[in-house]
Amino acid sequence: MPEAPELFEQDLQQESEQPIIITGKKPQKVNLLGMDLPHLKAFLTEIGEKPFRAVQVLKWIHQYGVDNFDDMTNVSQALRQRLSDIAEIRAPEVVLEQKASDGTTKWLMRLDGGNSIETVFIPEENRGTLCVSSQVGCALDCSFCSTARQGFNRNLSSAEIIAQLWTASKMLNERIPKTEQAAEINPQNETRRAITNVVLMGMGEPLLNFDNVVQAVHLMVDDNAYGLSKRRVTISTAGVIPALKRLREECDVSLALSLHAPNDAIREKIVPLNKKYPIKELLDACRYYFSGDTKKKQFTIEYVMLAGINDSTRNAHELARLLRKLPCKINLIPFNPFPESDYVSSRMQVIKQFRDILQKAGYVTMIRKTRGEDIDAACGQLAGKVKDKSRRINSGNS
Ligand code: SAH
Repeated sequence: MPEAPELFEQDLQQESEQPIIITGKKPQKVNLLGMDLPHLKAFLTEIGEKPFRAVQVLKWIHQYGVDNFDDMTNVSQALRQRLSDIAEIRAPEVVLEQKASDGTTKWLMRLDGGNSIETVFIPEENRGTLCVSSQVGCALDCSFCSTARQGFNRNLSSAEIIAQLWTASKMLNERIPKTEQAAEINPQNETRRAITNVVLMGMGEPLLNFDNVVQAVHLMVDDNAYGLSKRRVTISTAGVIPALKRLREECDVSLALSLHAPNDAIREKIVPLNKKYPIKELLDACRYYFSGDTKKKQFTIEYVMLAGINDSTRNAHELARLLRKLPCKINLIPFNPFPESDYVSSRMQVIKQFRDILQKAGYVTMIRKTRGEDIDAACGQLAGKVKDKSRRINSGNS
């Protein structure tokens, strides 16, 4: 088994949500939306209730989409009242819905404090994928990404992350029964879910918002909440090595690595984080992440095709050599332009040639279809509204 990468705590910037019940004179309600099962149990215990109630409450919130404690009919009247007094189930407000000609839907959600984020639903024949944001803006400054241009404001709370799935499920009219009894009488009601996959590929770097992302992901895979399999939940990262080790221990879901280059020289120019975490160490960390498990979760290498930058046949051969013995598939992403972007996408002929080289070398390689272009919903085009605090990572100096 490869050795575990060293963990640097300072890399895991966190603004974790703690259950705070009373602050000073002004009682502040605790938002239960972002609590996974252990956190909800702890909260109920703290207020003197039986922890087993947590499963009931979790089901009401996430399976039935309830935001009112009065609707929780199998919870005692006294507990419902108590919860209404001290807690709430609150999601950011949807302020704009846009639907592209290919059915891709984008929602703009307004957060407390004047920022907003974007969430995208991509329907396909056999599945529906929700692309979720993890931060307001992004601190990584990848040169080909529109979110980077917005700067960085803050981490999303676990409630704000899971709220994107909670809200999208409702907006898509998933057939969720109104009551638990109805589900028992007609279980078919429960089975049609429009969202079968979740990818953390929206705004932000998920592994720099570790605790909140992990808590939200726990809800995504919990059978009492959304029940998605680990294969169908993907965390996409530019490669924060210390967080990968923790991730393996805390929630080992599928991983997409935004590699985008076959060597450090090219990668440093387009993904500045590479100066801190170079390719060799990064791939070792990925090997560690997948050691002992090849079936439960998937490993995807993301590679954005930038004309004249990383798309030569030489680059393709180099990439094939670099990834040797890694159990991964490769996604080639045509570059999606945005205003003032400095790059041009490789021509389709060039992308196909690149793909053929990788396929001949034995890699499952796909060219990602660009979806939702007419509403700026494609990869790297999400912008939202970010009050930039410019807390960018100075990756060159550390
Ligand atoms: N920070 C994470 C997740 C957000 S970006 C990460 O780096 O993986 C999600 C994916 O979109 C990444 O693979 C990213 O490199 C890609 N992407 C960003 N801008 C893009 C653009 N303009 N065109 C195509 N893909 C882009």
